[in-house]
Amino acid sequence: MKYNPIQNFIGGKFVAPQTQKTMDVISPLDGTLLSTVPMSSAKELDDAVKAAAAAFPAWSKTPIKERVQVFFRYKTLLEKHLEELAALCSEENGKTYGESVAEIEKCIELTEFATSLPQLVTGELLEVSRGVECRTEHVALGVVASIVPFNFPSMVPNWTLPNAIALGNCMIMKPSEKVPLSCGRIAELLKEAGLPDGVFNVVHGDVDIVNAICDHPEIQAVSFVGSTKVAKIVYQRATSNYKRCLALGGAKNHLLVLPDAIPGMTAQNVAASMSGCAGQRCMAASAMIGVGNVDAIIDKICDEARKIIPGENLGAVINKESKERIERYIGEAERDGAKILVDGRNAKVPGKENGTYVGPTVIDFVTPQMSVATEEIFGPVISIMRTKTVDEALAIENANPYGNAASVFTQNGAMARYIIDHASAGMIGVNVGVPVPREPFSFGGWNESKFGVGDITGKSSIEFWTKLKKSTTKWNAEAGVNWMS
Ligand code: NAD
Repeated sequence: MKYNPIQNFIGGKFVAPQTQKTMDVISPLDGTLLSTVPMSSAKELDDAVKAAAAAFPAWSKTPIKERVQVFFRYKTLLEKHLEELAALCSEENGKTYGESVAEIEKCIELTEFATSLPQLVTGELLEVSRGVECRTEHVALGVVASIVPFNFPSMVPNWTLPNAIALGNCMIMKPSEKVPLSCGRIAELLKEAGLPDGVFNVVHGDVDIVNAICDHPEIQAVSFVGSTKVAKIVYQRATSNYKRCLALGGAKNHLLVLPDAIPGMTAQNVAASMSGCAGQRCMAASAMIGVGNVDAIIDKICDEARKIIPGENLGAVINKESKERIERYIGEAERDGAKILVDGRNAKVPGKENGTYVGPTVIDFVTPQMSVATEEIFGPVISIMRTKTVDEALAIENANPYGNAASVFTQNGAMARYIIDHASAGMIGVNVGVPVPREPFSFGGWNESKFGVGDITGKSSIEFWTKLKKSTTKWNAEAGVNWMS
C-alpha cells in the first residue's frame, strides 16, 4: 500500500478511526492500492460536529477581513504545492496530470474569490425615517457540511469550503470514498495557513455518514454534489430535518451543432468536451444534435477523437464497474441500431493492464429514445442525433430531465440568442464546449441537475452560507416619538 491508512481530521488533527470497516482506495491509472479509507461511525461525525461547534463562537466573531487572511495564505500554499496536489489528484481519480493541474488552478481561482468576500458582504444601511436606521448583516449559520463526489477530488471541496468558512461557518467535509486522499492534504494546508483547529474537519465514509450528516441536529446546512439519485435522497432527508440544503445532481448536456459552425473549431471543442477528464464531468458534452447537414463536422469530430489516446492524453475512468457500465451503454446503442464511428471499448494501456481505461467513442444515428441519448453515461462517449430544425433539437434538449448545461456551435448571433432563450439548462455555451462560468459568476444547473435555491459558487453562495440579520435602531432621547416619525 502506497500511503498510510486514511484518518479523519477532527479538531485540527488526524484521528485514528474507531471502526474496523474500511474500503480500499485503488488508483484507476494502474490498479495500485493507494490506501484504505475508514467507514466512520455516527459517533465520529458527532466528535467532528462537537469540534466544529466549539470553534464556531471565536471563528464567527473574527472579523471577515481577518478570516480571509487565512485564504490568502491558503492560496499561496495551493500555488506552492500545485504539482504535488495535481499528482495526488491524478493518482486517486485517474485524470491526466495536465487535467489535474487545471483542477488545482481552479481551486486557486475559487480561493481568490473567497478572499474578495469582504467587498461583497458589506450589508446595507439606510436612514428609513428621522434618526431611525435599518441595517442588514450576513451572519454565519454555524456548523455546516459539504458532501462531495469522486470526479473532482480537490475542486468540488473548494467550491464550498473557502466561501463557507470565510463567511464564518465551521465545516464538516465528507469526501468521496473513492478519492479520499486530496481532502487530507487540503486539511493540512488550511492548518498551515493558520485556520484555527475545529473550523475545518474531514469525516470519511459512505451512505451511513451521509445519512448521519442529514440527521445531525447541530448541522445547519448541507451542500451536496453528486448523482441526481443521491441528490434527491440527501435533499429530502436534510430538508425534512429542517436544514438548508443545496444538492447538485447529474447531467446530460447537449451540444447543438448548426451547419454554419466553424468545422475545425467545433470538432476540437466537441471532442475535448466529451473526453476531458474521461467524460467524468457534470459539464461534459454527452449528446450532440446535428441540425441539418453537419456530416463534414462529424467527420472532423471523429478525426479529433482518434487523436485522443488512453494513457496519453486521456485518463482512466474511476473503476472497473464504471468501465463496464460505459461499455454496456455502447453495446446497447449498437444493438439498437446506432453506428459506432469511433469505438473506445476494450482500451488497453501497455504496462497499465490494471488501469480502467475507455477510449473516446463517437456514436452516430442515435435516436432520442435510446439509453445513450437519455441517460448520463459519465464516460468519454458522444451520442449524435440529427434533426432538421433548431426547434426539433431544442425539443430533444428540453425533454431531458436534467438541466446542467447546453451549448450551440454557430456563427449566427440571432440563432445563438434563440437557443440561449429556449434551452432549459442553467449554463449555456455559445461556441464553448464546457460552459463553466468562471468566478465571480456562479455555478449551478436547473431541473434535476440541482435541488434547492441559488448556486453553489460565486456571489449566489453568500445567500446559502449566511442568514440575514435586520436591525432597526433609533437613538433619539425624546419621549413620544415612535419609529414611524
Ligand atoms: P454519488 O452520488 O454516487 O456520490 C456522491 C456522494 O454521495 C459521495 O460522497 C458518496 O459517498 C455519497 N453517496 C453515494 N451513495 C449514497 C447514498 N445512497 N446515500 C447517501 N450518500 C451516498 O456521485 P459520484 O459517483 O461520486 O459522482 C458522479 C456524479 O456526480 C455524476 O452524476 C455527476 O454528474 C455528478 N456531479 C455533478 C456536479 C454538478 O455540479 N451538478 C458536479 C460534479 C459531479
